[in-house]
Order: sequence, then C-alpha cells, then structure tokens
Amino acid sequence: MKEGLVIKSTGSWYTVKSNDGKIHNCRIKGRFRMDGIRTTNPISVGDKVDFEEEPEANVIVKIHDRKNYIIRKSSNLSKHSQIIAANIDQAFLIVTVNYPLTTTTFIDRFLAAAEAYRIPVNLIFNKIDRYRPNDVKRLAELKNTYEKIGYKCYEISAKQGTHLEVIRGVLKGKINLLSGHSGVGKSTLINAIQPGLDLKTGEISEAHSQGKHTTTFSEMFELDFEGYIIDTPGIRGFGTIDMGKEEMSHFFPEIFKTSAQCQFNNCTHVHEPRCAVKAAVEIGDICITRYESYLGMIMEDEDSKYRI
Ligand code: GDP
Ligand code: ZN
Repeated sequence: MKEGLVIKSTGSWYTVKSNDGKIHNCRIKGRFRMDGIRTTNPISVGDKVDFEEEPEANVIVKIHDRKNYIIRKSSNLSKHSQIIAANIDQAFLIVTVNYPLTTTTFIDRFLAAAEAYRIPVNLIFNKIDRYRPNDVKRLAELKNTYEKIGYKCYEISAKQGTHLEVIRGVLKGKINLLSGHSGVGKSTLINAIQPGLDLKTGEISEAHSQGKHTTTFSEMFELDFEGYIIDTPGIRGFGTIDMGKEEMSHFFPEIFKTSAQCQFNNCTHVHEPRCAVKAAVEIGDICITRYESYLGMIMEDEDSKYRI
C-alpha cells in the first residue's frame, strides 16, 4: 500500500502523487461516505489517500482525515454535494481598489466563508501601479481595516512584477487557493509567478454555471518553487453554507471577540440593548462596513441559508 496526494480529479479517475514523487492513476471501488455527507464524488484534489497497486488500475482504499474542505451542491436540483478541494493551507483573495472595484461586501463574504471553512485567508491588492491618489488613500483605509482584524494584506503589481517575491515566499510549500473577481489580474499574477502555468478556472466555470450535471474536474498545479495552486472551476464563490443567525458572528473575528461583552449571550447585534458590538461600531473600533456586511448576511435569508 502506498500513500499519496490527489492532484487531479475527473470524477472517475484520480491522479495521485506518491511520497516518492511518482504519479499514479487511481480509481475508487465501492462507496465512500465522508463525514455523513452524501457525495457524488468523495475524493478531491488535496486529499491524502492510501492506494493499492493493482495490475488493472490502482485502487484508493482510504481517505485520510481532512483539515478542511470546500463543498458545493452539484446542481440546484440535486441534494448531493461535491467536495471540490481539501486540505487547503491558505486562500488569497485578489482585490483591486479600482479597475474593477472590489466591494467590501464581496471581500467580507469571502473572508467569512473562508473562516467558516477554516481556511486561513489573506488579501492581495493588485494593480497598485494604476492607483491614483484617491485609490492610494482607499487602499490605505482598506489595509488598515483588514490588518487590524488580523488578515495579512499584500500590495502588488502583477503586471510590473512589484512585490512578487513576497508572494512567491508565502505560496511556497503550501496548497493555495487564489480567488477574485474576473479582471483583477489573477491570470496575470499566476503567469508572472510561474510562466507557462495554464490555468483554466474561467472557461470551465462557464459550463458549470449553465447547470450541467457533469463530473467534477479539479486540478492542482505544482509550483517550481514547491507548493500548489488549486485550479478548480466554479470556485470563485464558496457556495452555500447552512448556519443559524447566531453563528454568523463566528466568521467575523472582531465581532465575535467583542460579542463576549454583549448583555445577551445569544445577541445578534441588531436590535438588542447593551450590545457591545453596536457600541464598538459607534466609536469606530469595529469598522462600519464590516458591520454592514455582517448585517447584510444575517438579514438576507429567512431560511438561514447564506450564499457566500
Ligand atoms: P483575471 O480575470 O483575474 O484572470 O485577470 P487578468 O489577469 O486577465 O487581467 C485583467 C486585465 O488586467 C488585463 O488587461 C491585465 O493586463 C490587467 N492587469 C493585471 N494585473 C495588472 C496590474 O498589476 N497592473 C495593471 N495596470 N494591469 C493589470
Ligand atoms: Zn451584541
């Protein structure tokens, strides 16, 4: 029996890299049930697996415990879910203050989703070469907001190659997820970091958004300087998470921390008296845009289902 890392999944075949660096094509036999979730595709990139070498095809016999995973409903009609990536060491949201604008609502939803999935998350501000004085000011405000909460922020120009050594350094040796609005410079960044990596996130997510119930395809690309970048279609958003209103604050670290001082321990920080969160927003300790994102998310849906 051998142990390895799944670096590509087509839904029926899995490419596994064993610890000695060799590549093996594997299948699965029978059914796996992961954490009580019904999945059409129980194994994803990032999974550590044990497999048996057999003459016909190698067979995966065990999936190791995951430290985290991203899950997505296969389609609106189906109750089945797909695990689309596992054991992610860190996520990066690529943000542009302008050209195009990335809103704080979008940033906060992404951060909250990453928190919910227990994936450490960082922000990369791209296109700093284009910033006019107003954009520079906005960048400073945003960095201040997010660094105060504890999120690392990086400023780069993918086009001009500014600060890319820093990004290489933080990606090194890790399984990384890169995300961001279309047009923020994700492809440019990846190409600048490692020319020749041909990521396909964009095109395939189109097919997915048309609701086709096809097998999942996902892949991780190995970086020359060690580490991986996950390239999985449709991974821009994190999908739906089921949670109660009280839980949402867990995914806004500064709100969660402050909520210990609220009068009611089930305080939703909306209308309750003696709410420490509202008080902190008033004096500027909690950024108003973060509070607004939080409110937007808990007000959204009566069914306690949140798209993030
Ligand atoms: P993606 O959709 O996130 O993959 O974005 P692309 O990498 O395709 O970039 C979108 C546009 O932004 C392209 O015209 C890039 O040349 C441009 N772009 C990307 N990074 C930078 C940057 O750092 N500075 C400037 N000025 N333009 C950039
Ligand atoms: Zn409160």
